[in-house]
Amino acid sequence: MSEKLLEVKNLRTEFFSSKKSSVVAIDGVSFSLDKGEIVGLVGESGCGKSVTSLSIMQLLKDTPGKVTNGEVIFEGKDLLKASKKEMLDIRGGRISMIFQEPMSSLNPSMRIDKQLIEGIRLHTDLSKEQARERAAKMLSQVGIPDPPRVMKNYPHQLSGGMSQRVMIAMAMSCDPQLLIADEPTTALDVTIQAQILELMKKIQQEQGTSILLITHDLGVVAEMCSRVIVMYAGKIVEEAPVEILFGNPTHPYTQGLIASVPKLGSGVKVLPSIPGSVPDLSSMPTGCRFAPRCKYATEKCSQKEPELTQVNDRQKCRCWLKQ
Ligand code: SF4
Repeated sequence: MSEKLLEVKNLRTEFFSSKKSSVVAIDGVSFSLDKGEIVGLVGESGCGKSVTSLSIMQLLKDTPGKVTNGEVIFEGKDLLKASKKEMLDIRGGRISMIFQEPMSSLNPSMRIDKQLIEGIRLHTDLSKEQARERAAKMLSQVGIPDPPRVMKNYPHQLSGGMSQRVMIAMAMSCDPQLLIADEPTTALDVTIQAQILELMKKIQQEQGTSILLITHDLGVVAEMCSRVIVMYAGKIVEEAPVEILFGNPTHPYTQGLIASVPKLGSGVKVLPSIPGSVPDLSSMPTGCRFAPRCKYATEKCSQKEPELTQVNDRQKCRCWLKQ
C-alpha cells in the first residue's frame, strides 16, 4: 500500500495589483504524491506549474502573489500554517528544489565549497569537516570529477551542466524526502539533459526520494515519471499514470500536447500545434478555460465549467465530453 508524502488540497493562489484587485493564478488545485514516486506536472508556460511549486514552498514573498485558500500537507503537517523558522528548516532539508537556471540559484560571489557546506550545516548537526566530506561525496555521486578542485571554484567557472550537477548535489545533500525540480534540464543541451535526468532517476532509486517534476517537455515526462498531472490556466485538466496518459489522453488539451511531440520515424514533416495561447489571468474565459482553443467546443463549454471527474479508476479529466 503506497504512503502519501505530500497532499495539496484545493490550493488557490492570487496575485494582487492592489488591496482589492487580484487575479487567480492557481484555482482549486488538489493532488498528492506518494513516497518514492516521481510525478510530472506539465503544461505550457503560464499554466500555473511554477506558481504551484512556489506556493507549496511558500516562496511567493517577493511577488505580489499570496495563497488564499487550501492546505499543503507534508508528512502530516500543513506547510501553509508553518512558521517562517519551520519553513526555513524544511526548505533545503526535508524538501529541496532545483530550478531551471542553476546560475540564478547559486551565489555568484561564494565558492562552491562554502555554499555546499553552509547548506549542509544549516540542516544537520555535522561539523565543518564532516560537512566538507559530505559535500565532496555528493559532488562525486553526481558525477563531478575531482570534487576537491571543483569545490574551490566560483559558479561562473563552471559550465551549465556542471552547475546543474552542483545544484542537484546541493539539493540532495540533506537527504530530502521530496525534491521539487522546476524545468531542471530546459537550459541544458540535449546530451547533458539526458545525463542529468539519468542522474535524478538514479538518486531517486538509491535514496527513495519523491520527485515533483515540473516541465513543459512531455519527452522528459515519458522518461522519468510514473504519474502525470496536466495543468491548464491554473487548473488541473487531466491526471493519469504515464502509460495511460500517453496511450489514451482524454482531455483535448492533453491530446494537443501529445500530438505536438515529434515522433521518430513517423514521417510527419509539420507537427500539429494547439492554436492560440494560454489565456491571460486577467481575462479568463467563462466556462471551460480551454474552449477558445478547443476544436470540440460546444455552446455548453463556453457557458459552464466542467468538474475534474474520474473517467475510469486511474484517470481524471475536466471536459464535458467525458462527463
Ligand atoms: Fe473542449 Fe468543451 Fe472539453 Fe473544454 S469542455 S476541453 S471546450 S470539449
